[in-house]
Amino acid sequence: MVLEQPGSPLRQVTINDPTPGPGELLLQVAACAVCRTDLHLRDQEIVAGKLPLVLGHQIVGRAEDGARYGVPWLGWTDGECRYCHSGRENLCVNARFTGRDIDGGYAELTVADARFCLPLPDELSDEQTAPLLCGGLIGYRALRLAGDGHRIGLYGFGSAAHQICQVAVHDGREVYAFTRAGDLRTQEFARSLGAVWAGGSDEPPPEPLDAAIIFASAGELVPAALKVLAPGGTVVCAGIHMSDIPSFPYEDLWHERTIRSVANLTRQDGHDFLKLAPAVPVRSTVTTYPLAQAEEALADLRAGRFQGTAVLIP
Ligand SMILES: [Zn+2]
Ligand SMILES: [Zn+2]
Repeated sequence: MVLEQPGSPLRQVTINDPTPGPGELLLQVAACAVCRTDLHLRDQEIVAGKLPLVLGHQIVGRAEDGARYGVPWLGWTDGECRYCHSGRENLCVNARFTGRDIDGGYAELTVADARFCLPLPDELSDEQTAPLLCGGLIGYRALRLAGDGHRIGLYGFGSAAHQICQVAVHDGREVYAFTRAGDLRTQEFARSLGAVWAGGSDEPPPEPLDAAIIFASAGELVPAALKVLAPGGTVVCAGIHMSDIPSFPYEDLWHERTIRSVANLTRQDGHDFLKLAPAVPVRSTVTTYPLAQAEEALADLRAGRFQGTAVLIP
């Protein structure tokens, strides 16, 4: 399923089988989870690194010897810039990303640099593993960067938040889930995963929060989240794209509150989270679609028609 023209539907086409270069693996795609970033690329809200492009960066694939690998968003780094040299390969100045600069997993076959493929835990099925590979592991990075506060707000309760809610509850923290106003179904879903409170993003939580992670792409959630933080609290913006953030009074930032973003992942994040996820255990709520229905999966994500994560099965 190929993105030929951003803003237009993906098209089912037959292309030549990819050929692995030196150090690359040819993988048969077993499952590929859908990320909001795929939708941003499809809808022209972020720029594709190449066209035509095969989207998809939460790939569970099998190599020719049968071994199972995960292919995440971080597809390649130069290994030599100041970020790579300081444990921050997620910020590599020449990084290339799966499903943006490199053809990804909305396909039957894919090729990936073996150094960036993640070994997968045996406990989880292909469709349970795929959502871990971006929603889960970048969500986990966001949770770590939110600090170790007890009361954690999650804005936008989709693929990432429904996984990270389980991790935070497992840590003994309290989760406060914020959804679109009136989305009672998603609020109920959040409570079923252990959230102590769920409400609309226009509602104040019963207690001030120590941190808030924003997975939704609405910039107005940043000042809204800041307003419900306790002193010293952090707002983490975990998405790749957000609409403009409206201005807000300095008083809302005062008392050492912080706003920060989270970008991409390091391979270490991947190893850490894939070890943690089966121990929690993180159980993703998955809606599967045949690969040929990738466009429907993206439309359903845009419209909020499923809970949890959409996973494409070739
Ligand atoms: Zn680098
Ligand atoms: Zn993603």
